[in-house]
Amino acid sequence: MSSDILVVEDEPAIQELIAVNLEHAGHRVQRAGSAAEADARIRDVRPDLIVLDWMLPDLAGTALARRLRSDARSKDIPIIMLTARAQEQDKVAGLESGADDYITKPFSPRELLARIKAVLRRRAPQLTDDTIEIAGLRLDPAAHRVTSDSDELHLGPTEFKLLHFLMTHPERVYSRVQLLDHVWGDHVFVEERTVDVHFRRLRQALEPTGHDRLIETVRGSGYRLHG
Ligand code: CA
Repeated sequence: MSSDILVVEDEPAIQELIAVNLEHAGHRVQRAGSAAEADARIRDVRPDLIVLDWMLPDLAGTALARRLRSDARSKDIPIIMLTARAQEQDKVAGLESGADDYITKPFSPRELLARIKAVLRRRAPQLTDDTIEIAGLRLDPAAHRVTSDSDELHLGPTEFKLLHFLMTHPERVYSRVQLLDHVWGDHVFVEERTVDVHFRRLRQALEPTGHDRLIETVRGSGYRLHG
C-alpha cells in the first residue's frame, strides 16, 4: 500500500537513491535537504513516516526528532533515523530522541523498505497491505475486498478505509475527531457528523452477514470495533 514518506537527507545522491527506491515500491515521496525544509514539507502534507538523517546542515536529526515529538501535529509520525555512525551510544541517543527505528549507512534499499514496512505495521497497521480477519470478516487491502466466507460485501471507499482502520485497532474507542484525523487525514475539513453518516453506511454494508454487530457506538465518546 502506498504511504506518504518524507525523506530528510542533505546528501543529494543518498536522498535520490532513497526517494527513487521508495517511489518504485509505490510510496509517495516528499524530499527535504534540511530541518527547515522538513518543517515546510510537514506543514504541507503530514507524512505517514519520516526517514531522517542524523547529520543535517542546520540541526541534528536527533534534535529535529525530539522537536517533532513535542508538536501535536507531528508527534505520532513514525521516524526511522539514518546514520553513518554505528556506535551503540548513538543508537541509544537516536531512539531516546523519539525515533522508532534506526538504520546505519551504508544500507541496501531493500533493508530500508523492510524497516519501513515493519515500523508501519507496528505504528500504523492501516497503512499496510496485510489481510486482516475478525470474526469471519476478512478485509484484503491489496484487492480492496471485504468478504465473509464466500460473500463479498460492498463498501464505498470511505467506509473501506474506516473499516480498515477499525479492524487494525480493535477494542479501542475512537472519538469522531480522532477518526477524522486517522481516516480522513488532516487538512481535510469535514464536519464531525459526517463520521456518523459513514458509520451508518458501513453498518448497512456489513448487515447482510451480521458483522454490523461488531461496531459499537460508545455514548458520548465515539466508536469501537470488537475484535
Ligand atoms: Ca547528512
